[in-house]
Amino acid sequence: MMTSEALTVRRNYENRTPLGKSDWTGPEPQMSHSAVTRRIFFLDHWLLDGLSPETVQWLKIYAAEQHLWGAGWRLPADRIPAAVQQDFAASGMDAVESAFWKTQAMGLYVDNQETWQRCKGGDHVRRIEIVGPNDAYTCTTCRESAGKQFLVARVPELPHRGCTSPLGCRCRYEPVLEVEEIPLMA
Ligand SMILES: [Zn+2]
Repeated sequence: MMTSEALTVRRNYENRTPLGKSDWTGPEPQMSHSAVTRRIFFLDHWLLDGLSPETVQWLKIYAAEQHLWGAGWRLPADRIPAAVQQDFAASGMDAVESAFWKTQAMGLYVDNQETWQRCKGGDHVRRIEIVGPNDAYTCTTCRESAGKQFLVARVPELPHRGCTSPLGCRCRYEPVLEVEEIPLMA
């Protein structure tokens, strides 16, 4: 493996565990990645409103596989069950894209929930920043909140209920680490 590839793999891994692997000093124990993945199976959230129980069940497995591997992939159309295709027919996007972005949102939700709980339970982080992509699909609500920092207890709920992006809200919580000023070497 080339060095740059190795660095990319490592960076992707570290991005998933932004505070590193060291023990968290707050009262909440740090969850393992697979424990966070498991939360997808227990998701009961408005993100899944309007979808049949069969579709929800299928999406949870698809979302959990991606989350566990820390990767996202689109399924070929013929791998998407007819019931799921039908549920997404009115969304204006094809079933491949709809299923993909819905599962991304589900994974992001459990990650955000975990980040928030970890910050709330610990004593190193006082503020959380909302970050998200800024592209053609970013809606006004998300664009307005991007880059803003909030006290942990006051950070707005994600996903944004007012998000109008066809891809769903892609905003995430980023803990703000407050570091004492480190003097630069003269
Ligand atoms: Zn949005």
